Amino acid sequence: MTITLKVSENTKKEMEEFFADYKREKTPPYAVFQADDADCVVTLYESGKAVFQGMSADISAQLWIERERHLNPTKKVDVKNSETEKKEKKEVYVDPKIYHASCIGSDEVGTGDYFGPIVVTSAYVEKSLIPWLEELGVKDSKKLTDDKIMEIVPQIIKKIPYKSTILTNKEYNERYSLDMNMNRLKAILHNKVLVELTSEIKNYDYVVVDEFAKPYVYFHYLKESNRVFRNITFLTKGEDRCLAVACASLISRYIFIHEFEKLSSSLDMFLPKGASTLVDEAGEKIIQKYGADKLKEIAKYNFKNTEKILSQKEKK
Ligand code: MN
Repeated sequence: MTITLKVSENTKKEMEEFFADYKREKTPPYAVFQADDADCVVTLYESGKAVFQGMSADISAQLWIERERHLNPTKKVDVKNSETEKKEKKEVYVDPKIYHASCIGSDEVGTGDYFGPIVVTSAYVEKSLIPWLEELGVKDSKKLTDDKIMEIVPQIIKKIPYKSTILTNKEYNERYSLDMNMNRLKAILHNKVLVELTSEIKNYDYVVVDEFAKPYVYFHYLKESNRVFRNITFLTKGEDRCLAVACASLISRYIFIHEFEKLSSSLDMFLPKGASTLVDEAGEKIIQKYGADKLKEIAKYNFKNTEKILSQKEKK
C-alpha cells in the first residue's frame, strides 16, 4: 500500500524532528529523509510530498494527515491512496483461454443516445486474425475516435463475418412499453444476431456477449422467443476481454455513425450524440422546424430529454 500526501512547511518540520532517530543512511534524490516507521517506509521530499509505503502505511500516514489538518486548518489535505485508486480502476481480468480462442462476440451501441438507432452486431474472429486486429488497434476499442473507426472498420469487415441489426427510433418507440424495457430489447436483438451468425459459423470456441444483464435475466427476457441461442459466455467489459466483442462494438459503432450522419443531413442540422443538454437544444430546434411529433420518429421518446424539450417549447 502506498499513501502520498502533501504537507506544508510546518508539518514538514515536525516530521523531520519526529523521524530524526529513524532516518536511513541513504536519502533518495530530492528527498529530505527516508525513515522506517514500524512496517512502513516514510519518504519526505523537499517539495513537501510525503510518501508512506508498506503494511502500516495507512496508520502511519493518518497521524500526519491529522497533524497537517491541525496546523493548517484552512487547507484541504491532498491525499492519494494506491489501494482505493486500484479499486477505482479495477483492472479487468483477461482470461487467455477466451482471449486467444476463435470467438463470436456480440455488442450494441446507441442505447444511451437520444438520437440515432440502436445497433447490435455479432462478429466472428477466427483466432489467427487476433494479431492483425491487435495491430489495427482493436484492443483498445473504447479509446478509438470516430475517425479511426471509419478508417479501420471497412478493413475489418472484409475479413470477418458478422451480422448486424438496426432498430430505428421509430421502431424503438413503437415497441417500448411497460413490459418492454431497454434490456429486454437488447436481449432480443442480441439473440437475433447470434442466431443468424451461429447458423452460418460453426467452428467457434466461445460465444461472448458483453454482459448487460445477469444471464438468468437475459434468458428470462427471451422466454417468448422461439429460437434462443443459449451457449453464451457473458463477460462484463467484454470488449477488453475478447476481440470478437471489440469488433462487434466497432462495427455497431460504424453503422451507428453512418445512420447518424444520414439523419443529420436529412434534418439539415448538426445533431449531438449522447443525451446531454446539447441534445435538448437540438431537440428544441427540431420541433420548431418539424413539429413535436418528429421526435417520436427520430428520438428515443421515453428519455428524460423529451420532457425537457417539450417544457422549453411551452415556456416560449
Ligand atoms: Mn456493451
